[in-house]
Amino acid sequence: MKIPVAKPYLGVEEAQLAYDTILTNWVTQGPRVAEFEEKFAQYVGSEYAVAVSNCTTALHLSLIVAGIGPGDEVICPSMSYIATANAIVYVGATPVFVEVKSETYNIDPADVERKITSKTKAIIGVHQIGLPFEIDEIKTLCAKHSLILIEDAACAAGSSYKGKKIGSHSDLVCFSFHPRKVITTGDGGMIATSNPEYADRLKRLRQHGMSVNDRVRHLSDKVIVEDHLEVGYNYRMTDIQAAVGIRQLEKLDSIVERRREIANFYLNELKDIDCIRLPFESENDFTNWQSFSVYIKSSCPISRNDIMQKMLDLGISTRRGIMTSHRETAYKNRGVDISLPVSEDAADRSIVLPLYVPMSQEEMDYVIKHFKACLNQD
Ligand SMILES: *Cc1c(COP(=O)(O)O)cnc(C)c1O
Repeated sequence: MKIPVAKPYLGVEEAQLAYDTILTNWVTQGPRVAEFEEKFAQYVGSEYAVAVSNCTTALHLSLIVAGIGPGDEVICPSMSYIATANAIVYVGATPVFVEVKSETYNIDPADVERKITSKTKAIIGVHQIGLPFEIDEIKTLCAKHSLILIEDAACAAGSSYKGKKIGSHSDLVCFSFHPRKVITTGDGGMIATSNPEYADRLKRLRQHGMSVNDRVRHLSDKVIVEDHLEVGYNYRMTDIQAAVGIRQLEKLDSIVERRREIANFYLNELKDIDCIRLPFESENDFTNWQSFSVYIKSSCPISRNDIMQKMLDLGISTRRGIMTSHRETAYKNRGVDISLPVSEDAADRSIVLPLYVPMSQEEMDYVIKHFKACLNQD
């Protein structure tokens, strides 16, 4: 058997929609992007949604509209995909890395409070592998210290916090549609916001700072001569991608439902094994299980990397859990020299098991059987 760690859930419908879009001749940002944005905002419960080329550019533009620049500090967990920190560097600000909680791998509000200084301007919270962080606790800190909250929801499309979808809780929520996430457009990103000024400026910035977009000009019976109001970027999503995204979004709830079934099967099969710690969903959270990450305790007879190799020898791909950014060469070379013991331990000891919608029961059984065997629990 050959089992990948993840697999997008795309089908002929997405292919047909991309095909149809190509034949309309409108291939970059146009009517499909507008439709995708409208439907995405409606789905997450925000007033607006702004489509961009990926989540990294979504974070970059969010930091710009939040007014973050050189000299500012932005707090974020080191334990995240490195793009979270990189976006902060793009605007000339300094990422200040904080700890995560060991049960959830999510940002630790107590460590955030310790690391707030007079230079702190914003906090980027990350919904780790789809599991929402403590939004209300972080919002309270933001209110107390006049900070802007940005949510890195790259992995969290379809997840909810306190009964409301991620995307509806604050004004700069950034999503990814990379194939490793729960829904995909190849590459792609979205910023959900209910702030009309943010929405306008984000739309301008993603298209070179232009005063008018192509679709509005195309539909106008008056000549419109554009101006470029500020130095912007080309961070557009294409209409071909948006067409795929519209269908993926329609499938999102059923995708999450299936992912939850598979995760519950894993949780049940692994619940009696002492030498591992299983992922955790609090009563406030509803996770889309973007990844299923298991912590290997030091009492385990075998190391995390040896488990990964053994599984690979059997045709099962796994991945290390979430990385830490502060230990990557890119940040060491920028002079970052800190210790974050909880994050480091979690990153070194966790393993992501295969989980994807079209997974068969036979594949699920195969993963569990061999994972247990690696842990001497068969
Ligand atoms: C994937 C990911 C990103 C980057 O998303 P792209 O769309 O690939 O730019 C950023 N943050 C987190 C937490 C991610 O998982």
